[in-house]
Order: sequence, then C-alpha cells, then structure tokens
Amino acid sequence: MSDPYTCAKCGSNGILKGDIGLRTSRDLELIMVVRKDHGIEKKVPLQPKVCAKCGYVDLFVQNAEQLKIGPQDKPINPDFKNRPLLEYDF
Ligand SMILES: [Zn+2]
Repeated sequence: MSDPYTCAKCGSNGILKGDIGLRTSRDLELIMVVRKDHGIEKKVPLQPKVCAKCGYVDLFVQNAEQLKIGPQDKPINPDFKNRPLLEYDF
C-alpha cells in the first residue's frame, strides 16, 4: 500500500478524509468484522475508504491485531468444548 489517500481503483488522491464509518441505516450501529474460531469471538469495526472522484469504496479494519486469537482469550460460551486449544492454533 502506498499513499492511504490514493484511490486503489482510479488513482486519484480524492479519498474522503474524516470519520468515515459503515453504519446500519436504522440505528446507526457500527458494522463489525466478526471472527469466530475455537468458540472465541473477536470483532473490530469495518471501515471504508471512499474515493470522492469515482466512488470506489475500499474496506479495511484499523486494528487487525484485535482479530488475532491468543491463549488469553476465553470462549464466549463457557460450555464450549470442541477440542482443547493447541499451540499450533495460533
Ligand atoms: Zn477513485
């Protein structure tokens, strides 16, 4: 990735700045990227980049690290017993 304000489609540098977010139209709740694995749920807000010139919308997450599952994470369902977490899962 080069300039974060350059459109990946048309190459213009007209990416809209400011707090751009995806929301539901009814209650303006943030749209999240949700990862479920090993009974653990991780989520981060999905964020768009919008080109003012061609309208191309690029989606990304700011904190991709937060989607990583580590040994400190607990399954959301305490009864989750699929198989024990193993070292190579991470
Ligand atoms: Zn563009």
